[in-house]
This record gives sequence, structure tokens and C-alpha cells, in this order.
Amino acid sequence: MNFEFTEIDRMFVDAVRRFAQEKLAAGALERAHSTEYPVEVAGMLASQGLLGIAFDSDDGGGGGTLLQSVLAIQEVALACPKSADIVQAGNFGPIRTFVQYATPEQKERFLPDLLAGRSLIALGMSEPDAGSAVTELKTSAVRDGDEVIINGSKVFSTHSPHANLFLIYVRFGPGVNGIGSVLVERGSVGFEVGSPSEFMSGEQWSQLYFDNCRIPAKNILLGEGGFKKQISGFNVERLGNASRALALGRYCFNTARDHASDRKQFGRRLCEFQGIQWKFAEMTLKLESAQLLLYKAAMEGITGLPSAQSTAVAKLACNTAAWEVANEALQVMGAMGYSKEILVEYCLRRIRGWMIAGGSLEILKNRIAEGVFGESFPQRLRSET
Ligand SMILES: Cc1cc2nc3c(=O)[nH]c(=O)nc-3n(C[C@H](O)[C@H](O)[C@H](O)COP(=O)(O)OP(=O)(O)OC[C@H]3O[C@@H](n4cnc5c(N)ncnc54)[C@H](O)[C@@H]3O)c2cc1C
Repeated sequence: MNFEFTEIDRMFVDAVRRFAQEKLAAGALERAHSTEYPVEVAGMLASQGLLGIAFDSDDGGGGGTLLQSVLAIQEVALACPKSADIVQAGNFGPIRTFVQYATPEQKERFLPDLLAGRSLIALGMSEPDAGSAVTELKTSAVRDGDEVIINGSKVFSTHSPHANLFLIYVRFGPGVNGIGSVLVERGSVGFEVGSPSEFMSGEQWSQLYFDNCRIPAKNILLGEGGFKKQISGFNVERLGNASRALALGRYCFNTARDHASDRKQFGRRLCEFQGIQWKFAEMTLKLESAQLLLYKAAMEGITGLPSAQSTAVAKLACNTAAWEVANEALQVMGAMGYSKEILVEYCLRRIRGWMIAGGSLEILKNRIAEGVFGESFPQRLRSET
């Protein structure tokens, strides 16, 4: 087994690191505390080729690998945690499902602006009554000639206040096989983006309302029977979530390490106390082990989409390690760690959300157990299925 990166990957990491440290590190604090989507950063990342890294060059992508997308999100996050959101949006999020399944005509209409950072796509999957039980979604899609009529509502969509394109999971018919997805543009008749609410992280989300919303039938991404494909695409989103979480955990670790190297109490530097040293040893173990699982899942996806099992294991490991490390790093920094003067508290709040989003820790464990036993365990009571 070879744990070395290839020469190309090493050069790629060096280039992204240099760019991120030179262009993004300076504004990191301000960006993190702003509710605005950093459009100017999206443009910069696009011109560096950091949107669509693993997409085919025929689609306007970089022709790279999923591993390189993971490496890019890490390097950007280490310089500016908030800017990593744009790497997510341009490589791992609904854009990835879109590029996998869109028709040539859909790609021609939407991809150039998305990959240039001029446009943003959000995912509408969760509903008020369908969170973890996503297949219970009710938002309906009815074909009417060369149009589709959408009715229903979506909640919690990342970037919903700022996006101009929405990939919406809809129900064309009953059961899991009735689920598919459509592309809805902001401004479509009968589509309303509600006023923003705020997560604990400071991120905003808007409820999406569809009231006899009419879209052209050519905006169907996946018709009936599309659910399995959508979820396969969603595994990439999970890896982006895992990568960002781990990178923000490492950001906290680095910040706390530098603090512990300088800060003196009782006439000694914090790093000279064994109680502090052991915290760093334990944090290192958590970060390094989660990192290996993340790379393993990304390598499996090198020629396509990563497996559900490896993705679930990697996300569980990265979310948990990141949360524990960020929390311990904050403790090492005392009141300064708890202050908005630095980004450790911000990273902690962001990481917490990713333990719920993109498959909560509990749902990931359910998925992993199914892999262990090689059978599916329906969560519904048998009398209801
Ligand atoms: C930061 C953030 C970003 C998000 N972005 C998006 C987005 O872009 N698009 C989108 O559509 N949605 C998004 N979501 C919503 C997210 O997908 C849901 O929050 C998630 O699926 C969980 O659903 P829920 O919040 O309704 O919790 P519920 O499903 O009500 O679950 C509540 C608790 O019960 C646990 N639980 C539920 N079922 C089981 C079970 N069978 N076994 C064990 N435990 C169980 C859950 O793990 C959780 O801890 C986001 C959420 C967050 C926090």
C-alpha cells in the first residue's frame, strides 16, 4: 500500500496552498462573520480552476480527481474556512449530481455560469415532515404537456437565500420509485424563496415554497426512479462535508498549537505542561485516523462516485474527530478560543451543523451497520411498510 501522493497531487496541493494563503487568508475573519455569499472569492476560485476540479474537460471541468477536490477544499479551508464553502458548492454539492445526470442541453444552459462562479445551485431535499426519512418527501411534480407543475415546500437548503438555481427532489408518483428531481430557476412562476432564517453557525437558509410552480419539462433532471442515482451523487456531497469538517478541525488544531507554543502561564509555555501535550497527542490521533479514511473513500471514487459504505465511514470519522478536536482546541485557548476575535469558535459551530447535515451521525451508523450485516434494516415499523 502506498501512502504517498503522486507528484501531480503534490504540485496541485502546493499551488492551492500558495494561492489560498496569499489571496484568502487575510480576509478570513471578516468573511466568516458575514452572511453574504463571497462572490468575489467564487470568481477567484474559478479562475484558479478550483470549481469543477474533477469534472470532465468536455463539461468545462478540470479533468482531475475526487481526491484533488478533497485536497483543494482542505487547503482552502486551512487559509479561510468560509471560502471552503465555495469549493464545496463548485465541486461536491448539488452541482456534482447535476453534472453526473444533466442532459447536454441542461449543461449548456447552466454549467458555464456555475463553473465561472457567477451562478450558484442549492439542493432542496429536506421538507418539514421529511428530514432523515427523506423518501417521505411530499413535494409533487405533475407533467402537463411540455411543462411540470410543482407543489410543496423545502427547508434548510444551504445557500438558498443566494442561489439562483435549485435542484429539487420531487415526487412524480408513489413510493421510492416515484421520486426524481427537477431544476427550478429563481423567479419561476409560483416559486417563492422565503425570508432568511439563521442556523447556529450564522449561515442563513430560506424556506422554499412551490405553489403551482410551472417549469419546462426539459428541466427534469431525473424522472421517476431517479432516487438511487440522486443518492449516489449525494455521496460526493457527503465527502465534501467530511473534508470541510476535518479541515476546520485541523484549522482549530493549528491555531491552538501555535497558541500553546507562545502563551505563558505559571512562567512556562502551555505546551510544556503534560496535561496540554496529551491533548495534542489525542487530537493528532483523531485527525490522522479520520484523514486516512477520508482519502480511502476519495480514492475509491477516483473513476466515478465513491461507495456509500466508505463514504459513511469517512463522514462519521471526520465529523466526530473534527468536533472533538475543535472543542479541545477551544479549551486549550481558554477565553481567547471562546472569543469571536479568532475563528476557532466559528469552526466549532460550523462543524456541529455537519454532524446533522448530509446524513446525521445516527443515519450514517444505520448505513454502516447495513454494510456490516449485508442486509437492509427498514426503519419503518413493518406494519407501516
Ligand atoms: C447546516 C445544515 C445544512 C443543511 N443543508 C441542507 C441542504 O442544503 N438541503 C437540504 O435539503 N437539507 C439540508 N439540511 C437538512 C438536513 O438534511 C436535515 O437536517 C437532516 O436530514 C436531518 O433531518 P432533521 O433535521 O429533520 O432531523 P430528524 O430527521 O427529525 O432527526 C432528529 C434526530 O433523530 C435522529 N434519527 C432520525 N431517524 C433516526 C433513525 N432511524 N435511527 C436513529 N436516529 C434517528 C437523527 O439522527 C437526529 O439526531 C441541512 C441541515 C443543516 C444542519
